[in-house]
Amino acid sequence: MRVDARSGGLYNAGVSASEQLFFSVLGSGSAGNCVLVQAGNTSLLLDAGLSARATAERMAACGVTLKPAALFITHEHADHVQHVARVAQSTGAEVWINAGTQRKCEQRVAGLPCRELGTTPVRVGPMLVEPVAKPHDAADPVGFLVHCGTATLGFFTDLGHVDATVAAALRRCTALIMEANHDSAVMERGPYPPWLRARVGGRTGHMNNADSARAIAEHAGPQLQELVLAHLSRENNTTEHVRQAMVAALGERSRFTRRLSLQDRATPLLAAARGGAMCAAS
Ligand SMILES: [Zn+2]
Ligand SMILES: [Zn+2]
Repeated sequence: MRVDARSGGLYNAGVSASEQLFFSVLGSGSAGNCVLVQAGNTSLLLDAGLSARATAERMAACGVTLKPAALFITHEHADHVQHVARVAQSTGAEVWINAGTQRKCEQRVAGLPCRELGTTPVRVGPMLVEPVAKPHDAADPVGFLVHCGTATLGFFTDLGHVDATVAAALRRCTALIMEANHDSAVMERGPYPPWLRARVGGRTGHMNNADSARAIAEHAGPQLQELVLAHLSRENNTTEHVRQAMVAALGERSRFTRRLSLQDRATPLLAAARGGAMCAAS
């Protein structure tokens, strides 16, 4: 494993790279979602919405050549699960999926080494992966908290609203991948028919920029260091609309770094915590 400082991996003085939790949003949006998480000699993936080739290429671009040991699925929508078979077969990753989601995508995961994801955290090397139930129009959708030492990465896209369970999870994050799907006014003027606008903007749809920014302002804990906004709609959002919404709720500057993830390229490999986030030995 190589963590390349040029790719944005941030070393913490006194803590070796092998003891820190790193992540990259390899791609995000309605054409495919995948997040790489890595600690020590172990990597894992959250969702399989990118092709096996794109996943491998973007991992390599982050400087991570480890084969992922596990692949966790958030829900059955195609942009999160459509490449699960090829990604699992090409990497040998064990697929963790809950029963409700598996029933909805039986054919996609048939023959794969699936493990049933319950409500309890799963250990993968030095990382602990905790599913968090979330409101979204799917069978049994979850977000994830990935813990390693004092670092906690949250992954919350495809989120209709922030309920008490998700709010409690947001409070624990040192790094957070959070949905900023659409700008409500842009969507109102955009190409979506009324029924689709109602679905996307509803309580089990997707977070708009303003609600997302307010939720971060309200629920992010003082230890949050890295925020990555994700799942931007191509039709109903722009990076500038996201930026303005964040400035409105959080001000021009905040104590944590703000970034955007895009559909067609990976973010740099980012440290989930910079302040002595040692992983417990597995
Ligand atoms: Zn999605
Ligand atoms: Zn979805």
